[in-house]
Amino acid sequence: MIIHLRSSVNSQEASQLADSIKAFYIVSDGKNVLITGSGLKEVPDLIADKVDEFWVFPNDIQLASRKYLGKTREVNIGNVTIGGDSKNTLLIGGPCSVESEDQIRNSAELLVGLGLTTLRGGCYKPRTSPYSFQGLGLEGLKLLSKMRDEFGLNVITEARDATHIQEIIEYTDVIQVGAKAMYDQGILRACAKTNKPVLIKRGFGTTLQEFVQAAEFVMSGGNENVILCERGLRTFETGTRFTLDLCGVAWMQEYTNLPVILDPSHAMGYAYGVPSLARACVAMGIDGLLIEAHPDPSVAKSDASQQLNHEQFRQLLNSLRPVAESVGYKMV
Ligand code: PEP
Ligand code: MN
Repeated sequence: MIIHLRSSVNSQEASQLADSIKAFYIVSDGKNVLITGSGLKEVPDLIADKVDEFWVFPNDIQLASRKYLGKTREVNIGNVTIGGDSKNTLLIGGPCSVESEDQIRNSAELLVGLGLTTLRGGCYKPRTSPYSFQGLGLEGLKLLSKMRDEFGLNVITEARDATHIQEIIEYTDVIQVGAKAMYDQGILRACAKTNKPVLIKRGFGTTLQEFVQAAEFVMSGGNENVILCERGLRTFETGTRFTLDLCGVAWMQEYTNLPVILDPSHAMGYAYGVPSLARACVAMGIDGLLIEAHPDPSVAKSDASQQLNHEQFRQLLNSLRPVAESVGYKMV
């Protein structure tokens, strides 16, 4: 249950009321809000005269539920807005991993040249093998931050561990929680304590309900700036890396109030399929797209087979603009 307290209740009292009914307490849009488990069907007598409005839910999708907030939440990434009334489809580009200053500057120049705003590059890579390139760590974060300063770009990188969160906040604008990390409650709880946007990628064996509940961990902890990212599921198919769940995207748009970003690069696993998949994604009227691109994919230290080269990325953006327009969105 979500409970909006009357405006006459101050924050100290709100926090005491939360304790008295074992609820979460957050301040949302200037309102004191309590959240209890979905088992609760009626407002507890203890707080009945303090309640302004309340919502009952059939399960623990609450703050993220469309039933609670009948529209997509607005999330600001630097000076760019997604969700809300923006009708923006944010194209997030950049290499899988930050590898060197030359490489990431080349990527930054590509984006700026195309009028784009948001650069992504991994610094702590969650690799399947311990012998693969693990990312540049703090050195990579500093390079991203340098690009942010030099080019005025917003930058995104992934936290592999809760201990990375503080430095990621210091150097970047959005915290990415990867498909493997999204079950890590240490990371989710640490993200909840920041006010940075958190882009959560769906695990490849994660149900939609579990996915949104990961978002609820961050939101109920006080950070409602959450973005969902669909990046493909593991199925019986081995011809492609994963299977992009567009049905799941329709479900998220129907039942949640969170902006949805799609990642066809990791889903497909091969560059040849990325442009057409990206167009299919944008045709769904989505809040963003995450595309991996590398100055020279053949020498990429991670995910080489799926990264577009810069010419392919340019062409892709041109082909996406009319698709976005046809569904009332704008590529930004
Ligand atoms: C990535 O975004 O580079 C990545 C590792 O993706 P995922 O967590 O979706 O596998
Ligand atoms: Mn990658």
